[in-house]
Amino acid sequence: MKRWVLAVSMVLAGVAAAQEPDWSKIEVKVVPVAGGVSMLVGQGGNIGVTTGKDGTFLIDDQFAQLLPKIKAAVKTLGDQPVRFVLNTHFHGDHTGSNAPLGESGVVIVAQDNVRKRLGLERINPSTKQRTPPQPPSAWPLITLAESVSFHLNGDDLDVLHVPSAHTDGDAIIKFRKANVIHMGDTFFNGFYPFIDIDSGGSVDGAIAAADRGLSLSDAGTKIIPGHGPLGTKADLQAYRDMLAGIRDRVKALVAQGKRLEQVLAAKPSAQWDAKWGNGFLNPDAFVSSVHRSLTESKK
Ligand SMILES: [Zn+2]
Repeated sequence: MKRWVLAVSMVLAGVAAAQEPDWSKIEVKVVPVAGGVSMLVGQGGNIGVTTGKDGTFLIDDQFAQLLPKIKAAVKTLGDQPVRFVLNTHFHGDHTGSNAPLGESGVVIVAQDNVRKRLGLERINPSTKQRTPPQPPSAWPLITLAESVSFHLNGDDLDVLHVPSAHTDGDAIIKFRKANVIHMGDTFFNGFYPFIDIDSGGSVDGAIAAADRGLSLSDAGTKIIPGHGPLGTKADLQAYRDMLAGIRDRVKALVAQGKRLEQVLAAKPSAQWDAKWGNGFLNPDAFVSSVHRSLTESKK
């Protein structure tokens, strides 16, 4: 099973209820990105990392079971202890090491809604499965409404909230000098994304988030997706065009009064399925989520 497949299914099911992977078999690999920024790939959301005289700054922290391996990977980049963790959103495959890091004095930073959601019990509306709230040590000490900037290790990082995208608390991060962007789960590089409509996500917001990322990019920008391999502006553009293309077709079918079954039968994603439809969400599942996002009132 591909790593991200398991990661996403763990998010959907709630980590506690999902079958635990064999953590001892999972490696945390360092992928050099640019300008002192690296990406760590293990299980769950891709981690961004920069380290230097101002300390180690992590973007997301996967799962607590992997924290020793994450720390060992960071050590190969420098000796500075972890000082900050920025969560791109609240999902457990991006915030799983928050509690032990928070207990050890690391400052956790995220958008306002991440703190709210980490402190709430989550009930999956379709399966009724319950995910308990994370302990207070996992909650961000500092939250942002729209944006915040960090000035460390010789670079300036802008953290920007993108509303109602993958969730209601997503942030994307631009390293100005390194010319690197971490998109969190507003970018699944290579497959149809999970949009967490029950947690305030929407397809229109997901498209707007991709547009925001594109507006901050040029041909040399390296783009870290929440899941999938390191990407470029062209990859993000292809992702954006896929999302908008399917959204437009589903919208047109809804405007003609078609019901979900008829929308699915019309195969509005057909031209994109070969490239994007072989991941966790098959074409029907993704089209259904787009349909739901366009037809349900916002929560
Ligand atoms: Zn997510």
